[in-house]
Amino acid sequence: MSRADRVVERMRGRQLDLMLVTDLTNLRYLTGFTGSNGMAVIGRDVRRFVTDFRYAEQARHQVEDFDLEQGPQDFIGALGQGWPDGALRLGFEDDRVSVRRHRRLRDVVPDRIELAAGGGLVEAERAVKEPGEIERIRAAAELADGIYEWLLEQGIVGRTERELAVALEHEMRVRGADDPSFPSIVASGERGAFPHAVRTDETIPARTLVTFDLGARLDGYCSDCTRTWATGELPEDLAEAYALVQRAQAAGLAEVRPGPTGREVDAVARGIIEAAGHGEHFGHGLGHGVGLDVHEAPRLARTGGDPLEAGNVVTVEPGVYLPGRGGVRIEDLVVVTEAGHDVLTSTTKDLVVVE
Ligand code: ZN
Ligand code: ZN
Repeated sequence: MSRADRVVERMRGRQLDLMLVTDLTNLRYLTGFTGSNGMAVIGRDVRRFVTDFRYAEQARHQVEDFDLEQGPQDFIGALGQGWPDGALRLGFEDDRVSVRRHRRLRDVVPDRIELAAGGGLVEAERAVKEPGEIERIRAAAELADGIYEWLLEQGIVGRTERELAVALEHEMRVRGADDPSFPSIVASGERGAFPHAVRTDETIPARTLVTFDLGARLDGYCSDCTRTWATGELPEDLAEAYALVQRAQAAGLAEVRPGPTGREVDAVARGIIEAAGHGEHFGHGLGHGVGLDVHEAPRLARTGGDPLEAGNVVTVEPGVYLPGRGGVRIEDLVVVTEAGHDVLTSTTKDLVVVE
């Protein structure tokens, strides 16, 4: 079955006859199209792809098994016609379509076609990776591991966070990455206490912790890896925080297999951090799915109600953030397999001391 066929199967659960896909990542997943303007309509016997003049030729090369149409740049206009007969339910990505576009859709699409919520259907299919996708993510994770090795050789104390972040992103591209998966985080000292710190022009001091959170996008697929390193002998509270996060990360990782929900996996790592009195210092979820997007389904968090299944690729990344002192986060990328899991990250999690 093709990806589109599998999404059509999922559509039955919501009584949808057709699904309109406009989100560009979902569109890429379903059709292979990498341009910035296009849409697809899928249904049992419908495979319709519309793009504008600028991408018509590219679509002929990339998009197979769809009927290709060239529409206006504002391609919604093409939806005035070309529909199967009868009263139909058309799903749209209600979690992504703007209010304005929804209004336009309602104006253009014939009245006999009902618009219904279809958000999350393509994402649910994307959450279960095919072997070829896992290989791409594995390659992106290896690239990130290589960057950590490279960083270790560079030395970090006395350099600015920005200088290091820019240099490591350059190195990623030299090694073949399309791009970083997200703006790399380099957060030292007390800035490490902000989970999503932005790099600053501050110099990295000795005898503290530095958190690196980085990933490469390679052939469209992302990696995501965090390591926290020491820049010398650590004060006791930071050393303890590191040991705690390392323990919680290992415990969370051990729960990753088909069956438990994201909430249950999150609870195991969280329980360890709470028992050590640092529950309030771990304010984010344990992890998230990774694929074409760096944050996608499924979630390992208190809101993660879906059981994990083989083919999911998720991060396991607990953290402890001590205001005014520093922070620790350790993040691995892991694929759920029938037998349990396979960790895609190979950089050591033992405390690395780097000058
Ligand atoms: Zn990360
Ligand atoms: Zn992450």
